[in-house]
Amino acid sequence: MENLFKFPLKQHVGVDSNPVVKKNDFVKRGQLIATMPEGMLGANIYSSITGTVVEVSEMQICIKPDKTQSDSYMKLHSKKPLDLIREAGIVGLGGAGFPTYAKLQKPFGKNSGVVIVNAAECEPILSHNIDSIEHHAQQLIRGLDIVMDIVKADKGIIAIKSVHPEVIHKLEEVINDSRIHIHKLEDMYPMGEERAIVREVLDRLLDITELPFAADTVVINAETICRIQEAVDEKKPLIDKDITVAGKLKNGLIHIFHDVPLGISVGDIFEKAGGLADEYGELIMGGPFTGKRTSLDAPVIKTTGGLIAAEEFWKGPDKLGLLVCACGGNKERLEEIAASMGSEVVGVEYCKQAHEMKNGSLKCENPGRCPGQVQKVMALKKDGAQALLISNCTDCSNTVMSCAPQLKLPVYHCTDGALRAVNHKLIRKIK
Ligand code: SF4
Repeated sequence: MENLFKFPLKQHVGVDSNPVVKKNDFVKRGQLIATMPEGMLGANIYSSITGTVVEVSEMQICIKPDKTQSDSYMKLHSKKPLDLIREAGIVGLGGAGFPTYAKLQKPFGKNSGVVIVNAAECEPILSHNIDSIEHHAQQLIRGLDIVMDIVKADKGIIAIKSVHPEVIHKLEEVINDSRIHIHKLEDMYPMGEERAIVREVLDRLLDITELPFAADTVVINAETICRIQEAVDEKKPLIDKDITVAGKLKNGLIHIFHDVPLGISVGDIFEKAGGLADEYGELIMGGPFTGKRTSLDAPVIKTTGGLIAAEEFWKGPDKLGLLVCACGGNKERLEEIAASMGSEVVGVEYCKQAHEMKNGSLKCENPGRCPGQVQKVMALKKDGAQALLISNCTDCSNTVMSCAPQLKLPVYHCTDGALRAVNHKLIRKIK
């Protein structure tokens, strides 16, 4: 370990954490380096390595790792499970980053309440959650049991795609509790969206302003559940992360790494995966649909699920029309891709189910159930688009493909570069 480890003070929903270390301090793996401000939504941050603090700024803490490292860590102090989850700095590890203790602090009423484990892992390529469940199914069940106890739920459901029969079998082998069931999901994007999961599992479509709690439900990502087990049973702070590394690599297309120390650089992880190929288009942090462009010196943070070296950009037409989905790449992301394709953006349309929320983000009325895209495609044609760049879900991409080619509009998808890099089927018409 040579490179600096960087710990941004904002890796979660809520306010920035406050540093509790200063330059030249010696810290150990598992030592608290930044705390959540009292009475506010946030999360503690711990050092994942033993070393010396070399920088504390408003944005981040940088630590130079010692030559000698060990897997052991400083343990948490709290006694009660919910306090341990809060102290551990656990947040939604599927990408949302919402502090988990805040989700769990209001128990359900008597004889009600469901905890749904989100094991959909619906972004293509990403596979670290499924791999982890296959090898540590018991840990997931124990984590679910802890959460059900905290919120006093009378039912636990593991939502997982039916395309993983061996993993489902492993889970069935270790479930020894009549309150816990498995729900098999269809293989489409965005099945892992919180409201899509609630709709599929409980047959209830939440309004865009409603949270799962409105349906007496808590939805928690599978890795988050496993880190809860570690915090409660092993007093381990959140210092490690599971990730999928894929794409234009020298050695293989997809690698899964468990317990990567947080703060490590993207470049070091690609090295761990055998190194980047000589040519690639962009580096993506996250999945093909929702990931963002990153750089080799950026750190792995709590919400990092994937690192993908995408295929080089294909040259686009002079004029591109953008069709934006609430659950895929946003307008800025599509504009970034269009610029890399050398195209001018002549029109922007939004899926009619994408609604703007107070904070400016988009939310889908009914994720993954297409309302029809013909009108939007025709509007972009009218704007002068010679081709479309879209970020739509599986179902809506089908609809776009049923009309755009007739209008002589080739279709590009925001996931193309990542999927091509691993020889994955593109998001186009799916039978
Ligand atoms: S229906 Fe529209 S907004 Fe919703 S997931 Fe599909 S493309 Fe995105």
